[in-house]
Amino acid sequence: MRILIANDDGYLAPGLAALVDACSDLGEIDVIAPEQNASGTSNALTLNRPLSVFRAANGYRYVNGTPSDCVHVALTGLLERRPDLVLSGINNGANMGDDTLYSGTVAAAMEGYLFGIPAIAFSQVRKGWADLEAAARVARAIVGQVLAQRPSGAWLLNVNIPNRADADHLPRRVTRLGRRHASEPVICARNPSGEPIYWIGAAGDAREAGEGTDFHATANGMVSITPLQVDLTDHQALSGWTAQLGCGDAR
Ligand code: MN
Repeated sequence: MRILIANDDGYLAPGLAALVDACSDLGEIDVIAPEQNASGTSNALTLNRPLSVFRAANGYRYVNGTPSDCVHVALTGLLERRPDLVLSGINNGANMGDDTLYSGTVAAAMEGYLFGIPAIAFSQVRKGWADLEAAARVARAIVGQVLAQRPSGAWLLNVNIPNRADADHLPRRVTRLGRRHASEPVICARNPSGEPIYWIGAAGDAREAGEGTDFHATANGMVSITPLQVDLTDHQALSGWTAQLGCGDAR
């Protein structure tokens, strides 16, 4: 069993070390993570400059690029053998609902999934690493479970873990993504030259957080496990648009 582990908080993040240590007896592990915090970079690939790979004293490798760069370089040139599983995290903060579109944590796992490899993204609900060891035990339990059952094909799971010392004893729920309201407005300030600068505002509050969603599960003391897919097609709208635009049916 070969496991590739990446993250988006950077190779020095405590969540990465916790995940690696927790899974160390499950197989041969390669760690390839961004040099710097790359949270919120989504599926970005670096195309306008070359990437370099460095090795840290603890054996982790790090790349001066994005989370997707790390997994992409690993799978297409760096690793001698294809991993059986790609893990990402444990992230410093939740990746639920619409946040998953922006998440570098989810993107690193998704890059593995896009290459046909099963993948799991792990996040702690609150930032700050409280109860990280318990979250790592949850991650290890879930990885151990899926390795034992070996569900076929490629799949992508997004796991959010409440920050609790008893996280590994919490119920787990398979959930759907909730939705958020639009983000708060940008925050405008002035740089020392007097020019306007903008900080992206905070994420909006959960808008659809009813039973069955990731927001609901974690708010009610459960570990949320959301199976993700990548097809962005609005399948329900295909026939409506075909009629409205007078197009022939592509099917
Ligand atoms: Mn992050």
